[in-house]
Amino acid sequence: TYAVTGATGHLGRLVIHALLERGAPAGEVAALVRAPERAGDVAALGVEVREADYDRPGTLGAALSGVRRLLLVSGSEPGRRVPQHRAVVDAAREAGVELLAYTSILGAGRTSNPLAPDHEATEELLAASGVPHALLRNGWYTENYAAQLGTWAATGTLLGAAGDAGVSVAARADYAAAAAAVLAEGRPGDVHELGGPAVDFAAIARAASAVTGVDVAYRSLPPQDYVAALTAAGVDEGTAGFLAALEATTARGELATTSTDLERLAGRPVTPVEDVLRAAWAEQR
Ligand code: NDP
Repeated sequence: TYAVTGATGHLGRLVIHALLERGAPAGEVAALVRAPERAGDVAALGVEVREADYDRPGTLGAALSGVRRLLLVSGSEPGRRVPQHRAVVDAAREAGVELLAYTSILGAGRTSNPLAPDHEATEELLAASGVPHALLRNGWYTENYAAQLGTWAATGTLLGAAGDAGVSVAARADYAAAAAAVLAEGRPGDVHELGGPAVDFAAIARAASAVTGVDVAYRSLPPQDYVAALTAAGVDEGTAGFLAALEATTARGELATTSTDLERLAGRPVTPVEDVLRAAWAEQR
């Protein structure tokens, strides 16, 4: 049996779809969710829904019963994720899981990305756990930028502080296809740096212009000016500092990779940025 945690989330749900598209029988796919009452549409796919809450380790043993290959989708609360992931890894060891694939972060172990520490700690605890595992070091989702389309269109400006650095974005569905491939065929010890061909923010601004019909220009500010612009726009200081740290990581090129593992595993080219933004824009209208 394949099992996917976070199966009511954006990525997990897409991985369930990708497994079925690859031909996995629905009866051999388990959707692990913390709230089964929100999993109606997942259950409708014919897969088995099992309760699995990272914060309630008592749920995890039964959820992993008979599971051979498990995707652990990283939790969504930075700062709390390490004990949550530890609980899943411990339960996977108990259950004798043959391969645990974990959604880590691009460049784990050598990046200044402020989101990396939880992932790096998880990679370390996996290494110490004895659980056979593979690492999916996911790059940035193109969808992360979609939420800003309205602001960009309203101001005609994509404001950042990343200079001309590129970002290896890909759609969640692309990462999901790669994750399904690793669940089906991956081997313990596999480490994949995952992301699409790098695109810079001038290109993202052009895609945003095409999608919104408004001319959006990229403007890269020095870090202090970027923080000042964010706080002037009402962003709290903590968030502004976090976003500036992310821009600094981006400016150093650390959100880019030359690895082609994503396209190889997914078996297709990465979804174009414009396609992702267009779909998101249509939903927002
Ligand atoms: P979502 O927030 O849509 O999904 C996160 C999933 O984790 C949800 O299904 C959520 O459950 C589940 N989850 C959270 N806490 C628990 C818990 N205590 N027990 C069990 N399940 C839990 O995020 P995405 O699907 O978009 O992304 C997946 C992960 O990737 C994120 O959680 C985050 O770690 C990381 N990420 C990566 C980004 C990137 O650009 N590469 C950007 C943003 C996040 P529920 O459905 O019940 O809420």
